[in-house]
Amino acid sequence: MSNHGKKYGMLIDLDKCTGCGSCMVACMAENNVPFKKDESNKLVSITWMRVYRLTNGKPFPDTEICYLPRPCMQCEGEHGHSPCVSVCPAVATDYDFSTGIVSQIPTRCFGCRYCMAACPYHARYFNWYDPIWPKGMKESLSPHVSPRMRGVVEKCTFCFHRYQQAMEKAYYESREELEENEYQTACTQACPAGAIIFGDLNNPDHTVTRVVGPDDAHGGRPKNPAVFRLLERLGTNPKVYYTSTREWVRRQADNDAARGENAGRH
Ligand code: SF4
Ligand code: SF4
Repeated sequence: MSNHGKKYGMLIDLDKCTGCGSCMVACMAENNVPFKKDESNKLVSITWMRVYRLTNGKPFPDTEICYLPRPCMQCEGEHGHSPCVSVCPAVATDYDFSTGIVSQIPTRCFGCRYCMAACPYHARYFNWYDPIWPKGMKESLSPHVSPRMRGVVEKCTFCFHRYQQAMEKAYYESREELEENEYQTACTQACPAGAIIFGDLNNPDHTVTRVVGPDDAHGGRPKNPAVFRLLERLGTNPKVYYTSTREWVRRQADNDAARGENAGRH
């Protein structure tokens, strides 16, 4: 079965996101992410998908708020050299060229946390404790995702186990390709506002590709001027895109240098 040439990506519409947090909760349930007694302690809490609150900084009545969901950006860098992959001495995180997804293999990780230091998006989390599940909850864990132990790093994998399941089903049905809706992340499906679109950026028929218009000749930069990526100027080449009609929101992506005439490759 050929599964080469896929490049999964996401588009998040910041004008639609209401900050409800459904994506965060769905992600935790899907991926067996344990919650802490005190989730307000962000030094130890783990949220692969984290919703940030942005403001335009103006006083009332001109105050505007925007919520920005932030999964792992699945950076491609140049030819798969994502910042985290490049520094991991244990190959515990790797770039999958057949899907464009940056994997995380907890059993290889020895907790040096180089990857956390390298990730410019703060998308990685360290397990300071073994997971503790409230009584009865262990029985409802997902059998498709291994729970992680104390001392290792974890992060969003675009629900890679869902991709594997979809490919297995396709294989048994003698198909080589997946339909757009056969592989979707938990956060995409949970968002009540429909703010998240997910699909194969290499498939011109997928909605995400049609809206973003990734320019492969320029490191996946969006052709649609309303679409942007975070910290584009760093050259991380993320596969998570954002869109907003609000100028002040787009400016917070810190891309002004990248949008200029002399922005270089990105
Ligand atoms: S903490 Fe784990 S995944 Fe991160 S760089 Fe070290 S060994 Fe690799
Ligand atoms: S967002 Fe961070 S963890 Fe995800 S691929 Fe990029 S550098 Fe790695």
